[in-house]
Amino acid sequence: MQNPILEVSNLKKYFDIRGGVLGRKVGEVKAVDDVSFTVHEGEILGIVGESGCGKSTTGKAILRLIEPTEGEVKFDGQDITKLTTEEMRKLRRDMQIIFQDPYASLNPRHTVEKIISEPLLIHGMGKAERKARVKELLEVVGLSSYHASRYPHQFSGGQRQRIGIARALANHPKLIICDEPVSALDVSVQSQILNLMESLRDQFNLTYVFIAHDLSVVKHISDRVGVMYLGRLVELTEKDKLYDDPKHPYTKALLSAVPLPDPDIEKERIILEGDVPSPSNPPTGCAFHTRCPMAMDICKQVRPTFEQVEVNHFVACHLYDEAVQ
Ligand code: SF4
Repeated sequence: MQNPILEVSNLKKYFDIRGGVLGRKVGEVKAVDDVSFTVHEGEILGIVGESGCGKSTTGKAILRLIEPTEGEVKFDGQDITKLTTEEMRKLRRDMQIIFQDPYASLNPRHTVEKIISEPLLIHGMGKAERKARVKELLEVVGLSSYHASRYPHQFSGGQRQRIGIARALANHPKLIICDEPVSALDVSVQSQILNLMESLRDQFNLTYVFIAHDLSVVKHISDRVGVMYLGRLVELTEKDKLYDDPKHPYTKALLSAVPLPDPDIEKERIILEGDVPSPSNPPTGCAFHTRCPMAMDICKQVRPTFEQVEVNHFVACHLYDEAVQ
């Protein structure tokens, strides 16, 4: 395993809830609450969870597209939460993001050439060089140089995501946060984009944090997978361990809903009762206790710590806490 390129420690992002005529703070939403993990160079770390679990906020807080409330984000050994806006602007060459909705993230009034050129222009590249780089990038993502003069609406969803990927690659980044990059695409197109992203990782030694709500998507592409629930990581391990031997009851429930490729194999579906609680008023103890089929008395009172229960397998659950058993 290579060195860690990204070390996230105790990351928190709380949003104030304001109310009354004076707009005073009346509470807070703990969108990301004490999340820690590392990502190694060339690795793809998948992060999954239901909508509202804090996975996208985690991705944006890592890039400081939204400012973290607390915690440390080390990129290449440097804590980037301490950098000035100007220092951060320079670093954005190395840290990029691909968004879920390629149409919303591409300016409809700009040609593809202008869209992909933008990050090159910001970093001072000349016109002729930019033109050549756009051509090269379009080819790298499986489009053609004649696409440069077209507008986003002239492309399919999959092609638009290829344009988004080309833009993210423009300045030779090291790390890309992929925020649900295939969720808005048809299943057949999803696998083409995933294959492209995987081959780009190999070609350019990229590192991805790949955020998705769909465990089957993450399985395809990740080396390790972290599962989030209500702003916290509840399980993190290598892909095969997670899919073959999930430990956390929430991961087990999520996996039970993933269809198997062989329709003759039946598996028991674990149906979770109730909705995800509000992060503005999370349950006491283990945040999952209101829906967990394995919940014990202690789960309502004591929050489980995120511990290594096997080699490279981290879980936050009292079922694996020897003191409780
Ligand atoms: Fe379920 Fe308790 Fe484990 Fe939480 S700590 S996941 S409630 S068994």
